[in-house]
Amino acid sequence: MSSFYPPDKAKDFSEFALGRIRENGLLPSPENYELWFIYRAGANPAMNKALDEMLAKEIKPTNEICLSIFDQFLRANREDERVRSAGDQIKKTIEEVNTAVGSVREFATEYHDTLEDVHDKLKEDKTKEEVTKILGHVLADTRAMLDQNEHLEVLLKESATTMEKLHRDLEIARKEALTDALTGLSNRKAFDQEIDKIAKAACTADGEVFTLLLMDIDHFKSFNDSFGHQVGDQVLRLVAKALKDGIKGRDVAARYGGEEFAIILPFTKMDSALKVAEFLRLNVAKKEVVNRMNGERLARITISIGVAEYVKSEPIENLISRADSALYAAKHNGRNQVAVAPVSMNAGSRASG
Ligand code: GH3
Ligand code: MG
Ligand code: MG
Repeated sequence: MSSFYPPDKAKDFSEFALGRIRENGLLPSPENYELWFIYRAGANPAMNKALDEMLAKEIKPTNEICLSIFDQFLRANREDERVRSAGDQIKKTIEEVNTAVGSVREFATEYHDTLEDVHDKLKEDKTKEEVTKILGHVLADTRAMLDQNEHLEVLLKESATTMEKLHRDLEIARKEALTDALTGLSNRKAFDQEIDKIAKAACTADGEVFTLLLMDIDHFKSFNDSFGHQVGDQVLRLVAKALKDGIKGRDVAARYGGEEFAIILPFTKMDSALKVAEFLRLNVAKKEVVNRMNGERLARITISIGVAEYVKSEPIENLISRADSALYAAKHNGRNQVAVAPVSMNAGSRASG
C-alpha cells in the first residue's frame, strides 16, 4: 500500500477490511487485508469494478478468488513499488557514502597542512612548552581524524548491509519480472530470452537441436463465457501445473499469451518431443475441473499442440511460425491433438536471432 491516508480514513479502511475477512471467513492474510483495504479506499477502480461485478452476482469471495484478484490488480503494482523503493534507497546510500568519503578527504587534506605547518614550526628553536603545545594540537587533530575514519567505517558497514538487502530484493523483483503472476510459469519475456539463448547454443559446432511446443486451450472462450473469468483463471493455473509437472527441470514452460503456452525442450529431437507433447495433452485432458466456488464439476479441458524441431541457424520467428502453423493444423483437424510442423522452405536461410 503505497499511499498514505489520514488516520481516521485509514482506521475506517482497516476496520472494513477486517470486517470483510471475518464475514467471509477469509484467511487473515496480508493479501486479503490489502485487497479489502484498497477496495474501501477506492484506490484501484479496475479492481473495484471486478469485485463489484462479482458481488453483484452474489459470488462469495473465497481465498482463491481474492488471491486471484490480488494477483491481477495489486501484485504487479507492488513489485513496481519495490523496485522503485530499492532504487531510492540505493541512491540515498550512495549519496551518504559519497558525503562521508568527501568529508574524510577534506579532513585529511587539512591534516596534511597541519603537519606541514608543524614541521616548519619545529625547524625553529622552540622551548619544551612550545613543542608540547604544538604536539598537543597535532594529537587533537589526529584524534578527530580517527573519529572521522571510524564514522566512515560504520557507515560503510551499514551501507554494505543495506546493499546486500537491496540486492536480494532486486533479485526477487528480477525473478518476478520474468514470471507470469497468474500461473507461476515463465512469462513471455523470459520465454523470448530463453529461446534466444538455447537457439544460440544449438547453432554452435557441437550444439544440439531443440524442439518447441506451442499449445492453446481448446474452446476456452466458451468455457469463460459459461463459467466466468475467475473459473477461467483457475483453469489456466490447472493447465500450467499439468504442463509443469509433465516436463523435466531443464525444459522451459512459459505462458506465451492469454490461453497459449509454450514449452522449449532442449537437446530433444522431434520423435521424443512428440511423446512429450502427447503425454502433456493427455495429462491435461484427464484433469477434472471442479468449480472451487461451488464444488460443481465442469467440462473437461483439452489442448491442441503444434511441435516444431529447430533447424540450425533458422531465425526464431521462423521456428515459432512453423510451430504456430502446426498448432493451427491441430485445431483445424478437430482439436485435442498434436500436429507436427513441416520444415519450411526458408528455414536455415538466415542467421539466428
Ligand atoms: P480455440 O479452440 O480455437 O482456441 O478457441 P478459443 O475459444 O480458445 O479461442 P479464442 O482465441 O477465440 O479465445 C481465447 C479466449 O481466452 C478469450 C479469452 O476469453 C480467454 N482468455 C485469454 N486470456 C485469459 C485470462 O488471462 N484469463 C481468462 N479467464 N481467460 C482468458
Ligand atoms: Mg488462443
Ligand atoms: Mg484457445
